[in-house]
Amino acid sequence: MKTFRDKVIVITGASSGIGEAMAKEYAAQGAKVVLGARSVQKLQLLAGDIRSTGGRAAYCGVDVTKPAECKELIDTAVREFGGIDVLICNAGISMRAIFDDVELDVLHKLMDVNFWGTVYCCKYALPYLQASKGSIVGISSVAGLHGLPGRTGYSASKYAMTGFLETLRIENLKKGLHVMIACPGFTASNVRFSALTADGSQQGETPRDEAKMMTAEQVARIVAKGILRRKRLCLMEIEGRATHFVKKFAPAFLDRMFYLVMSREPDSPLK
Ligand code: NDP
Repeated sequence: MKTFRDKVIVITGASSGIGEAMAKEYAAQGAKVVLGARSVQKLQLLAGDIRSTGGRAAYCGVDVTKPAECKELIDTAVREFGGIDVLICNAGISMRAIFDDVELDVLHKLMDVNFWGTVYCCKYALPYLQASKGSIVGISSVAGLHGLPGRTGYSASKYAMTGFLETLRIENLKKGLHVMIACPGFTASNVRFSALTADGSQQGETPRDEAKMMTAEQVARIVAKGILRRKRLCLMEIEGRATHFVKKFAPAFLDRMFYLVMSREPDSPLK
């Protein structure tokens, strides 16, 4: 795959943030994009915007915690565009609470969306991706490279995605399937507003300065390059690269750095 022209790209979590930015960017690069998320109205508007500028888009309302709905998303791509070249498992939620305080149900929710949502979409898309020798992309996080305090369920779900996707890569070594794990750092989006607190309610605000973060559009462009180069791991800004590097040589120092950074957030749950 040299460019995205005429490639069919399925994106979960396309109604907001990084997923929405990827949909716009990849459609502009000539891809046929298939959008999935629960907010069908937002997907309808986004697909309309893409088509109004000459792009090609289909959409399907999907809650990725439900296997039958994930199958319907994949079926939509095949019905509308005849196959799948790239599946981007991007739908995700976050949390903010230390493990002492958090209700266990919050961790289950994180795993259901971030991990199981990835597993279900991969399961139904795999035969089509094997046929096209295409790509699976998991949108993980720097929290999937090293444990992020106050985010046990989030880090666990991203590490679980990595274990699953790395194994899928090896199982498909002789079948030409490309599997990439992308690890954005803090990126301006809705993710901190919708993050679950200790009792499972949404945080509704962001504890960080969103203006100082990467933009979703920057992440979308970096992920695109990673797919076209068939990279295994897609690191982005300095936090991601530094985490990956320092973890190999000084993991205890990295623990202290992560604690320091996260404890400095306003109202940090770290005591
Ligand atoms: P947003 O909150 O802006 O977008 C999240 C997307 O996931 C939305 O489209 C939402 O759509 C969708 N989603 C959530 N739950 C479900 C569900 N059950 N079924 C289907 N879709 C769902 O956040 P981001 O764009 O930031 O997040 C995208 C990915 O990037 C996530 O996996 C996140 O972990 C990862 N990431 C984000 C970082 C950041 O700082 N922003 C940093 C590192 C990684 P809807 O509500 O309509 O269903």
